[in-house]
Amino acid sequence: MYKIVSFFGERGLAFDYLNEEASKYANSLGLQYDWIPQNPYDKEDVIVAMQHSDAAIIDIQPYDESIFSKVYESIKIMVRFGVGYEAVDLVAASKKGIAIARTPGANTKGVAEMAITLMLAVKRRLNENQACVASGNWIKNVSHETAGSVLGIIGFGAIGQMVARFMAGFNCEIIAYDPYPNIKLAKELNVRLTDIDEVFERADIITLHVPYNKETHNLVNMNRLVQMKKTAIIVNTSRGNIINEQALYEALTQKEISGAALDVFAHEPLNPNSPLIGLGNVVLTPHVSSQTYESLWRIYKMAIDTISDFFAGKDPSNILNPEYKKAV
Ligand code: NAD
Repeated sequence: MYKIVSFFGERGLAFDYLNEEASKYANSLGLQYDWIPQNPYDKEDVIVAMQHSDAAIIDIQPYDESIFSKVYESIKIMVRFGVGYEAVDLVAASKKGIAIARTPGANTKGVAEMAITLMLAVKRRLNENQACVASGNWIKNVSHETAGSVLGIIGFGAIGQMVARFMAGFNCEIIAYDPYPNIKLAKELNVRLTDIDEVFERADIITLHVPYNKETHNLVNMNRLVQMKKTAIIVNTSRGNIINEQALYEALTQKEISGAALDVFAHEPLNPNSPLIGLGNVVLTPHVSSQTYESLWRIYKMAIDTISDFFAGKDPSNILNPEYKKAV
């Protein structure tokens, strides 16, 4: 019986339940399933567990030669729990004959819904209003409606498309920038594809849905932030380093833009002394966009299905490094 070791999630009601379900599901497919939560992450523990398993479900920590070289005799496939895989060295994995997969589409709805939750919260100044009630300062903050505004999407992939789909009833003008766009779907969803400058200059709300790589590192810098309208807001549910946090802080305090929401940060967990904490119209959440029971369950199921298909000799389409087969 092949054995899966899963490292994602922390002890507590939600992940205890989800991992029990994941274990039952894996067993129903003839796979053994062990959950070894990593809070805090312990690289040596992870290596030892992988040396006794055939497959692993991994989180966002770095996976490189220093791990692959110690586990490749046992581990044949690793599935990244989620979509972004910038911390996994695919070339090094291929050299050791380890297949790396991810779970595209499984958390799309959860993240898109969170991006919309955050844009609505910032637009309607939710945290400032809550602070007013809590402090007895019963004032009326006036805000702008989301309905009818110009929504700019950077990265029109699975999540960007879902945001456009969910926002259909808001009667926004939706514009998007993506170097490899799905033109047909953009038409269907009434999204006008344009260049990145127009998105930054015209949008009332900008939402980021790009992968993190060399090209997108600090994509949102001071030059981009000053291009935005002073009344505009920006939402990041992608990866922290896509925005330069220092530039964002300056743009917010110098009133170059009117608000921001971040679910992801350059360094996680965010330092509690970060100057971003406590800024007026800024909503911060601890990388929870895909943390819904529904999204998480879809990810567990897709990860287990991928591993089951892999050991059944099928060729799962979500494997990122088909070159793993060439390893000698
Ligand atoms: P996807 O691969 O379906 O879409 C990404 C899109 O970005 C693609 O269409 C691609 O062409 C486009 N793109 C690439 N480089 C670009 C650039 N320089 N400018 C503009 N567009 C560019 O991925 P997805 O499922 O939509 O996920 C997007 C990102 O969201 C992931 O890479 C991940 O980092 C992040 N994410 C975060 C969470 C969370 O919990 N906060 C959860 C899931 C995904």
